[in-house]
Amino acid sequence: MEIESTSANLYIVATPIGNLADLSPRAIEVLQTVDVIAAEDTRHSGHLLQHYAIKTSTVSLHEHNEQQRSKVLLSRLQQGESVALISDAGTPLISDPGYRLVSLVREHNIKVVPVPGSCALIAALSASGLPSDKFSFEGFLPSKAGAKRQVLESLKNTSQTIIFYESPRRLRATLNEMLEVVGPDRLICLARELTKVHETIVTKPLSELVAWVESDSNQQRGECVLLVAGKIEQTDPGVIEVERVLSLLLDDLPMKKAAAITAQLLGTSKNKAYDLALKLKQT
Ligand code: SAM
Repeated sequence: MEIESTSANLYIVATPIGNLADLSPRAIEVLQTVDVIAAEDTRHSGHLLQHYAIKTSTVSLHEHNEQQRSKVLLSRLQQGESVALISDAGTPLISDPGYRLVSLVREHNIKVVPVPGSCALIAALSASGLPSDKFSFEGFLPSKAGAKRQVLESLKNTSQTIIFYESPRRLRATLNEMLEVVGPDRLICLARELTKVHETIVTKPLSELVAWVESDSNQQRGECVLLVAGKIEQTDPGVIEVERVLSLLLDDLPMKKAAAITAQLLGTSKNKAYDLALKLKQT
């Protein structure tokens, strides 16, 4: 591998979101060769660094000390040292600290180099089966019910896939709130424990997903990403269009699968598509 000159660069290094093997060889090399690693929680990151026998010294940079710590790191960069920024998991700055540091460092014309890797929202989107050509990442919803409802109301007519981070403690309340705001038929993906042993990525109409999560407490645990399909303008596609897609799919697929794909493609309910598939089969 080509060894990079790390002098006076700030590296933004993505770390695994669960599976330690997801640290790239380039990330390992950078973390080994910089002068200092700024970590959100030095103890937490200690496990990862130990796993890869990385002995570089660490300093903390978290939301409560970012402003002051950024100035110290800037001065080290100005003296020619190289710095890597990591967060507890995934890509720094994505619902994680680092924005102040990066903007300060760029203002002083010091090079900022991304070392890309894991990011929960991208991993979830890539496997969700929801449209990925356009999406909007909303980070964490407000914890207070009123503010949460307001954000959901403001997003309910968005046509692109909407992605949220959510804590397991609030998952059920958030899902029920979403059900009230966007209705039972909208597709939603729950992506839990990505890259870990109990990884679960399930996409269903909201009412089905809520019932499933309510009935299985295992689904209420662990880290999760919620992805809500955008509103399809033509929410109730004409019967002719549903029949056209169904009759194409029914040539090669069982009825349940054909109905599920038709519902997903056309943004209609799976039950409606299934009823039409039944009628088509009978005729
Ligand atoms: N910077 C991180 C990234 O690149 O994804 C996100 C940090 S944010 C503080 C933590 C949130 O990311 C969690 O509450 C959860 O919503 C999501 N997350 C992180 N790891 C995850 C995983 N393995 N599976 C599902 N969601 C995860």
